[in-house]
Amino acid sequence: MNIIFSNKTEYFRDEENNIIYSNSIGTSMIDFIELDFSQVNEILDKLYNKANIDIDKEEIPHVIVYEVEHLISEFKKKHIYFRDYRIHSFYGSEYFFSTHSESKRINIEIRSLVSNLSHSISGIQKLQAEFKTIIEFCFLNTTSEIHQKLNPYQRYYYFVNYEEKRVKKKKEFDMGYPDHRIKYSKERESVSRYRANKKYEIFPMDEFNINENKMSKEDLIEAISNTHFELNEIITCDTLDSICITQLMEMLKNNIVVNSCKNCGKLFIPEGRIDTEYCNRLAPGSSKTCREIGATKKYLEKSKSNPITREFQREYKKMNSRVRIKKITQNEFYKWSEKARELRDRAIIENMKLEVFLEKLKKLEV
Ligand SMILES: [Zn+2]
Repeated sequence: MNIIFSNKTEYFRDEENNIIYSNSIGTSMIDFIELDFSQVNEILDKLYNKANIDIDKEEIPHVIVYEVEHLISEFKKKHIYFRDYRIHSFYGSEYFFSTHSESKRINIEIRSLVSNLSHSISGIQKLQAEFKTIIEFCFLNTTSEIHQKLNPYQRYYYFVNYEEKRVKKKKEFDMGYPDHRIKYSKERESVSRYRANKKYEIFPMDEFNINENKMSKEDLIEAISNTHFELNEIITCDTLDSICITQLMEMLKNNIVVNSCKNCGKLFIPEGRIDTEYCNRLAPGSSKTCREIGATKKYLEKSKSNPITREFQREYKKMNSRVRIKKITQNEFYKWSEKARELRDRAIIENMKLEVFLEKLKKLEV
């Protein structure tokens, strides 16, 4: 996968140089570390249980191979980082059944397929957790001494050289340029070294339609002269680790601000003001975004101290008690409260005088 970082934007390009994803730098990384794997894990557990039978007595259902294939294709769509995702020595169900025909052999192969998949996906989740830790450490603003005294570069240096060793003595977090290396002494031997190759390219940033075979030299020069070009660094990443480390470095280099959402707790990159408190994701179990919920919360907090709200609540209680003594019906009360709420909101927004508001409130029909 090719990634280009230009003007605070990250572009992902496919093999034909088409831009398939773009966003402000770090966005894909933050989305990755906040990805929810619970559904994938559930499916994996089921597959694992299906394959975990006594293969001397029973045959593992062949449908598992198709289920694995389906899970992989869904997984690839889950995030841009997984676009090229594949698992070792699995080339699809067709190839699988054309190469393995003997039933005992198939049993063994299916079992190893499932275990390879679950191994691979748990590796990704580990990576996710590790990068979440370091991103929180380097980017989030907390009241701790480290965060008050150190800037992101200093925090990063502190983290890889001291913090990680102090917290988990066995684990070694070692990143170095130009190898882009993460080395974990025990747990991560399989990904101890990898590369992210960097090259330069002067590339048109506008829509650019050129056919050098059909165009004259003059037309070609004219078309180029009207196009905006930039010198880009293109980083080719072959592994998920190399994508993550590249992203992390670019986030540091570009001074990216990361906040933690006050509603859902997930990390996000603020789009407007850097002190934005709520993310733009759908809030858990709601059809509203955290930002929308945050706006309502703030409004309510602000209006709590407002005399209009106080008077509204007093009247509301009064009306409610009338329902209990059966002076008005539940339905009448409901209709009244709708109107009263509307009036309250308008009064707050329009900065209505308290006497005027009270007068209107008393006049509301039941
Ligand atoms: Zn949120």
